[in-house]
Amino acid sequence: MTHLAPTIGNASVYSPLVSDGYESTAPPTSQVALFNPTTPTQPLTDGFSRRLTYLRLSITDFCNFRCEYCLPNGYQGKRPDDELSVPEIATLIRGFAQVGTKKVRITGGEPSIRRDVVEIIDTIKQTPGIETVAMTSNGYKLGKHLASWQAAGLNQLNISIDSFDADIFHKMTGFNTLPQLLADMDTLLDTTDIKLKINSVLMAETAFENLISAIDYVKDRPVTYRFIEFMQTSDNSDLFFAQHAQSDIIVDYLLAHGWQPHVRGSTDGPAIEYSHPDHMGRIGMIAPYAAHFCDSCNRLRVSSQGKVHLCLFDQGNYDIRQYLQHDDVPGLVDTLHSFMPIKPEHHHLHESNSGIMHNLSIIGG
Ligand code: SAM
Ligand code: SF4
Repeated sequence: MTHLAPTIGNASVYSPLVSDGYESTAPPTSQVALFNPTTPTQPLTDGFSRRLTYLRLSITDFCNFRCEYCLPNGYQGKRPDDELSVPEIATLIRGFAQVGTKKVRITGGEPSIRRDVVEIIDTIKQTPGIETVAMTSNGYKLGKHLASWQAAGLNQLNISIDSFDADIFHKMTGFNTLPQLLADMDTLLDTTDIKLKINSVLMAETAFENLISAIDYVKDRPVTYRFIEFMQTSDNSDLFFAQHAQSDIIVDYLLAHGWQPHVRGSTDGPAIEYSHPDHMGRIGMIAPYAAHFCDSCNRLRVSSQGKVHLCLFDQGNYDIRQYLQHDDVPGLVDTLHSFMPIKPEHHHLHESNSGIMHNLSIIGG
């Protein structure tokens, strides 16, 4: 289901001369203060007083991998030929920066397959107000991209590695590329200042072996290895019921072995990270099924077709492409504010309801 974005407010109240810079203001304390079209630099704050400072932008649905929990049969159909263009992305990011977005994560599908990914990183990085540009990737041919990503200003890279066993990695993704990927990641650590994190979907069968390997991996590397609790979508129910494990199995082990949790920053992702005095890196846990997980939500998502997803598992999305096509930043800002009262308080994964999300390649997890 796709909704057309409601246009609330009068876009003409915005001066085209208004700066793209974000002026810090105190968060509104009441619903009434949430949307005031006369203050275009007002930060986005939803109906539950959550400040939304983090945008996750999918730049393509397409992916070359076949991760068994995401696209077990590979990408189906023809890759759309109308993904957001670089000028549209530039408009999008200027609008989001104007309402307080500080961090943008580029995701997909597999973002690195876009030929203009360097231009996209550079465009986002050059936007006043954006402090951090991050990307999530499967790391395919990482070594080929590293220098250009670093030069374009990429700050953080999350690579998905569901197993440190090359055969299991091959089985889980369809690609026998783990040894090359690990070598490329060491090159990243040696030759760039890109902050590296690793994502791994928590599966009952591989959890303990992965944890022991990850603890070893981060001993001498400044890397966070993050387990993501397996989320059910309409495409993966059988695997979910066979493999879903709760975050406690990791957290209990960490706490029992001297790992200490850290407090999250305001633009950080949802992981709780644990450190240990004998280890340079950290182990993280993203636990979307945990109580109060959504209380600290700080994000909005935009698809590669220019649709806003107010929650990863919402029942619909909202088309903002018209503003991007017409370089209409005031109209976009106005519309983003109009979404604030309807951002859902939380997902409904506990009721096995993943909304319109068939698999996470659609919007990037
Ligand atoms: N292709 C890139 C990658 O794999 O890193 C970016 C897109 S991928 C959808 C983003 C993240 O979502 C990956 O770390 C992946 O492991 C995770 N993911 C995908 N499906 C998931 C699921 N059902 N539950 C939890 N995490 C999932
Ligand atoms: Fe592709 Fe990422 Fe999904 Fe794996 S998790 S199939 S790499 S989009």
